Amino acid sequence: MIKLIVLSRDGVINKDLGRPITTVDEWVPIEGSLEAIARLNKDGWSVAVVTNQSGIGLGILELSTLHDIHKRMHELLNQIGGKIDVVAFCPHTDSDDCACRKPAPGMLYSISERLGINLNNVTMVGDSLHDMQTAMASAVSPVIVRTGKGRKTLDTHKGLEHIPAFDNLAAYVDDLLAPKADEKSDKSDKSKLNQAKAQSGKSQSGKSTPSSKAPTTKAQTTKPTASKATGSKTANNKTSSTKIAAPKEVTSKAPKNKSSSSKS
Ligand SMILES: [Zn+2]
Repeated sequence: MIKLIVLSRDGVINKDLGRPITTVDEWVPIEGSLEAIARLNKDGWSVAVVTNQSGIGLGILELSTLHDIHKRMHELLNQIGGKIDVVAFCPHTDSDDCACRKPAPGMLYSISERLGINLNNVTMVGDSLHDMQTAMASAVSPVIVRTGKGRKTLDTHKGLEHIPAFDNLAAYVDDLLAPKADEKSDKSDKSKLNQAKAQSGKSQSGKSTPSSKAPTTKAQTTKPTASKATGSKTANNKTSSTKIAAPKEVTSKAPKNKSSSSKS
């Protein structure tokens, strides 16, 4: 089973400028965030990104520049052995009333579809109220970080107290990957087992890499360090197994034509 964590981009991975980032140089990673992603990968997690990029709809960000920015992100990650499997972005503005702009969950559905993954066990890390709403509008568990808009989000909005909060992405990953007290012994057994496995032949890790649509083709697979084949899942007290509505085609649906009368 693919273990997936979805990240908001601005304010979680890179510094939030309070406005659209429109050049590659403006894309500056938050300290420790890329390393945190690499650590997730090494532990067998896939990572996806969902990001509102209304700068495109507003005409202040070129699509090609957005791709360059993401290329930069992938390159920096590759250098430290990390990778992001899917980047979903919404190019629309508020007035487009699309299904993908957060807080709408459309991008999560398209990732779910693309990776063939059920959203029930997925966590989304964000910094804004919209991120939290996006997660809660689907079956995804929200986590908030205090980088970007996070601190302000927590100060301004009531009712987010039940959402796990961390100082930054690195702190969340530390917590996620920390051996839980009750699985400690179990874990050491497992790592022995994995060691044995690693020695007895270089197998593919249990992780299935979504080969179809990596955002850039340079998605290099990380060295398969002992990946836990069986889920030592974090205690996720989500018991309901909500079914996801059939994913619709979300990303490309530009609602602009909606009002225009169809000409024949
Ligand atoms: Zn959209």
